[in-house]
Amino acid sequence: MALVTADVVIIGGGCMGASVAYYLSRLGLTNVVLLEREDQLGTGSTARNAGGVRHQFSQPANVQLSIESIRLFEQFEDTVGVPIDFHQDGYLFLLSEPAHLEAFQQAAAMQRQLGVQVDWLTAGEAAELAPGLGTDSLEAATFCARDGICDPNGVTMGFAASARRAGVVIKRGCEVTGIRVDGAGVDGAGVGGGVSGVDTSQGFIATRIVVNAAGPWAASIGTMAGVPLPITPLRRHIFIAGPPAIGAWPTSHIMVIDFATSFYFHREGANLLFGMGDPAERSGFDISVNWNLLADVAPVAARRLPALADAEIVKAWAGLYEMTPDAMPIIGRTGPKGLYTIAGFSGHGFQHSPAAGRILADVITGRDPECDLSPFSLERFGRPSGVVEGGVV
Ligand SMILES: Cc1cc2nc3c(=O)[nH]c(=O)nc-3n(C[C@H](O)[C@H](O)[C@H](O)COP(=O)(O)OP(=O)(O)OC[C@H]3O[C@@H](n4cnc5c(N)ncnc54)[C@H](O)[C@@H]3O)c2cc1C
Repeated sequence: MALVTADVVIIGGGCMGASVAYYLSRLGLTNVVLLEREDQLGTGSTARNAGGVRHQFSQPANVQLSIESIRLFEQFEDTVGVPIDFHQDGYLFLLSEPAHLEAFQQAAAMQRQLGVQVDWLTAGEAAELAPGLGTDSLEAATFCARDGICDPNGVTMGFAASARRAGVVIKRGCEVTGIRVDGAGVDGAGVGGGVSGVDTSQGFIATRIVVNAAGPWAASIGTMAGVPLPITPLRRHIFIAGPPAIGAWPTSHIMVIDFATSFYFHREGANLLFGMGDPAERSGFDISVNWNLLADVAPVAARRLPALADAEIVKAWAGLYEMTPDAMPIIGRTGPKGLYTIAGFSGHGFQHSPAAGRILADVITGRDPECDLSPFSLERFGRPSGVVEGGVV
């Protein structure tokens, strides 16, 4: 049997793996194999997210990822060749607690310094942007008109199709079961030798470069190479409500987030998509729907969007956030020579997949990624930094 070899093997066919494949192929690196264990691409977290895209983060490194990614989303069809239904109707963060007011004021100042147009609104101005909004106890809001929502499937398929046209091989139904690391010598990072290949359900592939893009399962891929990755899965729900029987909700696609409770919603076709975090949720891979959560959402929804109270819930699903301790991603070299990770985006990975994939492709090919990689390094977890992304919803 012929030995299968590749310059790069990417593990995981979600938005992140597809993005890395796309950017590598644009740099001329096309002897690349992308492996996805499911029968289709984009069925993991990528299939289960709310499609939200925003500049409004608390950490400058995340805002920079957003600026670059949103620039691509705005011209995705022309650049990548696939429509992604991008509605830039803005993100409205509703603020009702003094600590949040202060944090968002600081974040808005930082975002403006980076060139992002963010408005500070009164409760009345917020209600004008989002008809049907309940403003009870609302102190202020922030709004960025270039934030929005778009289609995660379109983005993933666009990246994958373009990479495939350039020569990247995409194998579906192919599970990675092991990573082989040469014991020979200790490299500069002082961690083992170099990657020499991956074992899969369809045989061995020899390679010197492996990209871990396995989303919520990234820690198990790290374990295969002896690298502990602090990435844990956390279940989050999305509910879809049919058109309201009484009252109204926004006709635009504006994303509204009640920051104190993490209740959020946006129009989805004729329906409304909404969700809310569950503070009692514990780490785990269960993605069955916990219908009891609706009882917690109901009073918040009744206060913030009264029309939702009488609407019929037509659909629900759950998916996994891929959490790190500081809610910042890991992008770059991790452990043995040739092993790279792009994971741990802590619930906002879809929107950062363009910039993150571009950065990792630059790192792999030895180019200057033109950004500070330290907020994304695995080594940061070993030293106290005080940096935490506060804008996780
Ligand atoms: C309810 C919910 C709402 C969200 N809302 C938003 C939002 O509004 N905006 C936003 O930006 N982000 C959002 N996110 C987060 C976003 O979905 C994720 O950050 C992003 O999809 C991560 O992409 P990924 O490619 O890293 O992971 P995934 O899409 O999970 O892809 C990883 C892939 O790796 C494959 N894999 C795993 N192990 C192996 C193996 N051993 N061999 C081969 N393949 C393997 C899996 O099958 C999977 O397809 C949300 C997430 C959830 C759950």
